Amino acid sequence: MRIVGIDLGTTNSLIAYMDGKTPRVIAGRGGRAMVPSVVAMTDNGLIVGDPAKEHLVRNPARTVYSVKRFMGKGLADVADELKYFPYTLSEQGGVIRIKVGEKTYSPPQISAMILKELKQRAEAVLHEDISKAVITVPAYFNDSQRQATKDAGMIAGLDVVRIINEPTAASLAYGLQQHTQGTIAVYDLGGGTFDISILKLKDGIFEVLSTNGNTHLGGDDFDHVLAEVILKDVRAKHGLSLEKYDEAMQAVRLEAERTKIRLSDEQTATAVIELPDATGTYRKDFSRDQLEALTVELVERTLGPCRQALKDAGLQPSDIDEVVLVGGSTRMPLVRRRVQELFGKAPHSELNPDEVVALGAAVQAGILSGDTQDMLLLDVTPLSMGIETMGGVMSTLVRRNTTIPSSAKEMFTTYVDGQTGVDIHILQGERELVKDNRSLARFRLKMPPLPAGVPRIEVTFLIDANGILNVTARDMRTSQSQSIEVKPSYGLSDEEVEQMIGDSFKFAAEDITARKLIEARLDGGALIAATEKSLTQGGHLIATDEIAAIRAALAALAAAKDGTDPRAIRARMADVEQSAHHLTATLMDDSLKQALQNKKLSDFQ
Ligand code: AMP
Repeated sequence: MRIVGIDLGTTNSLIAYMDGKTPRVIAGRGGRAMVPSVVAMTDNGLIVGDPAKEHLVRNPARTVYSVKRFMGKGLADVADELKYFPYTLSEQGGVIRIKVGEKTYSPPQISAMILKELKQRAEAVLHEDISKAVITVPAYFNDSQRQATKDAGMIAGLDVVRIINEPTAASLAYGLQQHTQGTIAVYDLGGGTFDISILKLKDGIFEVLSTNGNTHLGGDDFDHVLAEVILKDVRAKHGLSLEKYDEAMQAVRLEAERTKIRLSDEQTATAVIELPDATGTYRKDFSRDQLEALTVELVERTLGPCRQALKDAGLQPSDIDEVVLVGGSTRMPLVRRRVQELFGKAPHSELNPDEVVALGAAVQAGILSGDTQDMLLLDVTPLSMGIETMGGVMSTLVRRNTTIPSSAKEMFTTYVDGQTGVDIHILQGERELVKDNRSLARFRLKMPPLPAGVPRIEVTFLIDANGILNVTARDMRTSQSQSIEVKPSYGLSDEEVEQMIGDSFKFAAEDITARKLIEARLDGGALIAATEKSLTQGGHLIATDEIAAIRAALAALAAAKDGTDPRAIRARMADVEQSAHHLTATLMDDSLKQALQNKKLSDFQ
């Protein structure tokens, strides 16, 4: 089954697939691969992409753009965003609703409209149903933003087999996973956002070391600077204030962008604008030097976050092995120069920077669908994580190499009657015994006293995209819960991780034996206690030679428990169970009779 790769962007979205060994983006009828992430509700129905973009000026109240900024967020989270948007927002169940015309939609519903458009485009070109996709998200997206992206996929009829980080996708497009190791800086300057991510690659595994950026800095700001110059010049030369004319303003914005784009390839370009009311044509020549002088400050504003990201990752610019450029605005020669100067090496720019994320998503999709033979692991936990259970044994909830974000849930109970709490001791490592693993954190969950085995304690591990582990323990009876957050990789060097994994192989046999012994002793102890209890309750119901046989079997089990052979313990346990079989059955009959009697009693009352 084919899996496609999708770059669901703030301004533009793309879909790509693997054509043999080569990732390719899919163009629409007009030949353009980029679908503007804009949705408009018109009287003739819903439109998406380029035609919807045209509605932005004519019908802003019914047109939605930049919906990615609202994914997985509540109203309180976006208070700062609102000054940029003309939207009427509300909230329902913690999820933002955007008013479009008379109706309201959630961000995943709007994103789903864009995804559907991409899906249909792929179906038309590939002549097959598309139902599985890899979708990219910014590295800093949290769990709810990732979940919202998955929801959007589901609404669009797509099974989202994997969410991957945009910088990871860009690195995959350049085949960087084939290197055994390295440190990668991904510089992403799009239309409205800037992101810098520092990734560490080791044996095909990408880890996000740090991210930074500016959610309101991009190509649009460059257009704006040029547009301001044009507006001022028109006023000076023609005495005309174009601000009063919506259409002329739109024309100025578009011409500013066109001029900027031309200056990426040429030294000079002319901006041409038809003035309103047939007052003539305005022309202005711009040189690349002029554009660079006007916008150098904008480029400088991307370098501070780059330095901060390096600092957060504990790196110097010279530690970066590869620099990858993403986003249309990285075509500007000034941007390339400044990035090269900062990192001291030429950035990768062979691929189309608008397409590189979608291409990488397709590479990941190809790997997942088994088309590509290379084993590849992405964004994974380097070590297993779990909790301590009785006898000092580690019970693993999340295995090593699990792709993140990820979650796991397991039910535990108590071992001793009347326990008023349980200790949740969180561990990391590959060994069977607690003492050989790394202790990450511990906390206590209080509970009302109950017989052993009765409480049900649900333990949930949640690892977000940044590798932060959140552990919650919940008493299912009382719904009381406790949780804690830890960063499992904190303070662990690569060497230590390797050592821990190496030890787990080295001591595997010993560890398993030790664990089996502990478990057999625990089970043996529990069986002795339970059988003693049965003898007290039902000894009078069976023959004395039966009692003697049970006592003999119990003594043999107690002796085996003191030894070190788990198999011997299990064998003696079987003897106890066999000798006590009649006693247990009799007691069960008895308690059944009692239960029936109880029922009668209560019926009677
Ligand atoms: P993206 O969001 O990655 O699609 O980037 C779109 C932004 O890239 C817009 O602001 C475009 O104006 C800008 N852009 C595209 N091509 C070029 C180019 N050749 N030179 C400068 N900016 C460009």
